[in-house]
Amino acid sequence: METPSIVVVGGGASGALTAIHLLRLARTRRTPTAVTLIDQHGRHALGQAYATTDPHHLLNTRADRMSAVEGEPGHFLSWARATGLDASGTGYLPRAVYGRYLREVLAASAEPPARALHLITGTATGLEGDHAVRLADGRRVAADAVVLALGNRAPAPLPGTPAHPRHVADPWAAGALDEVGDGTPVLVLGTGLTMVDVALTVTRAHPGTVVYALSRRGLLPRAHPPVPAAPVPVTFPDGPLRVADLLRVVRQAVRANAGDWHGVMEGLRPRTQELWTRLAPGERRIFLDRVARYWEIHRHRVPPASAAALAELLASGRLRLLRGGLVGARPAGAGLRVLAEVDGTVRELDVGWLVNATGPGADVTSDPFLAGLVSAGAARRDALGLGLDAGQDGAVLDATGRPGERVFAVGPLLRGGLYETTAVPEIRAQAAALAPRLLEAVRVPRSRLTA
Ligand SMILES: Cc1cc2nc3c(=O)[nH]c(=O)nc-3n(C[C@H](O)[C@H](O)[C@H](O)COP(=O)(O)OP(=O)(O)OC[C@H]3O[C@@H](n4cnc5c(N)ncnc54)[C@H](O)[C@@H]3O)c2cc1C
Repeated sequence: METPSIVVVGGGASGALTAIHLLRLARTRRTPTAVTLIDQHGRHALGQAYATTDPHHLLNTRADRMSAVEGEPGHFLSWARATGLDASGTGYLPRAVYGRYLREVLAASAEPPARALHLITGTATGLEGDHAVRLADGRRVAADAVVLALGNRAPAPLPGTPAHPRHVADPWAAGALDEVGDGTPVLVLGTGLTMVDVALTVTRAHPGTVVYALSRRGLLPRAHPPVPAAPVPVTFPDGPLRVADLLRVVRQAVRANAGDWHGVMEGLRPRTQELWTRLAPGERRIFLDRVARYWEIHRHRVPPASAAALAELLASGRLRLLRGGLVGARPAGAGLRVLAEVDGTVRELDVGWLVNATGPGADVTSDPFLAGLVSAGAARRDALGLGLDAGQDGAVLDATGRPGERVFAVGPLLRGGLYETTAVPEIRAQAAALAPRLLEAVRVPRSRLTA
């Protein structure tokens, strides 16, 4: 009997964690299984977040939560210590270190007797039924099941802003920031975690660089406390919830905890997906419109060291926060002249670089591969347009709402159904739950197209 083949499209953390759990389970069960991980940039196990080489780009999650193996919470920490790093469970290691860890765990998962991991660098352009994945260069990869792990979409294009060598439309593209730290002023659209990375990188590359960070509310991510807060249990009423209920209960919990919201956030963290599923679609929309930005800055915090570096940049005037919106930009000299509405007044700023750090674009159809799946009826957008519609087990729903038996999704693509589905602890749990489901799905092989 031919070895069943599971193909994972997207080789970032979601794809790697899926492959790791699949290979480990296949080995435990002595079930020969071939796992193919396809990544368009060859950034297998690194993806968007862990491909950085800047040692000042730190994990924003403490080390004892970043294990790549569900059920083995100390796995990352043990690896870090074994490689000679002075790591503590509550510390924040460089993201580049984490990328190395994921790569090594992935490689180790494929050791004999499984010996069944294939890494392909190529761009998936379509599915042939659910039997094969088609690549842009004409190759076809046979599949008994497919996992979509394409991560986040590139940021949505900026209004009134032409393509220009000094307009960085996707700061996570490989090498996108290499030239930016040349000492000329940088305008970053967005004031979230991506802006933090950009500001730290370009000001270290050239200490004279001034970074303008522009967003509607000018809100910066909060910092993790130096000593992690213990989780505070938060009790919600049973049944369907409204956003107003969430806010009321959370505010009460913060008050009861003497104003310490960090502990409340820790208490909420493992429950966010369940709470999200208890909001009706209209309530979810209200959350996105009115609460999400505040949620993001409290939930996705920066490590104390990054917070200190940011404070120093702000105090020295090398980072300037602007509240407002971009009107447009046009070429001017070697750089760009940016028109922005700041505190109600339109201002012109001459900058060397403009960086789009507005966060992931929501529209899955901006990606040709996903657009093809949607137009072929093999997948559909979720009701909020944040990603793909899927069942609880990640099975992708087709245009009629029927779950695919052999096409699944993990990670950020499931944001509409789960909301918090971008951090490693959540993705790891999905990967662990999906592995037995996938092995079951491919247990009965069927005739498939060959590569
Ligand atoms: C800057 C940053 C810092 C973060 N820090 C943390 C942290 O400290 N802790 C934490 O828990 N989480 C963190 N996260 C969140 C989380 O770990 C990432 O979002 C996670 O890496 C998502 O991985 P992914 O594989 O889903 O997506 P990605 O990393 O985007 O990987 C998807 C991959 O799919 C490939 N791809 C896309 N389309 C195709 C195609 N058609 N064919 C082939 N390949 C394709 C892409 O090239 C990419 O390599 C961070 C995220 C970012 C962006």
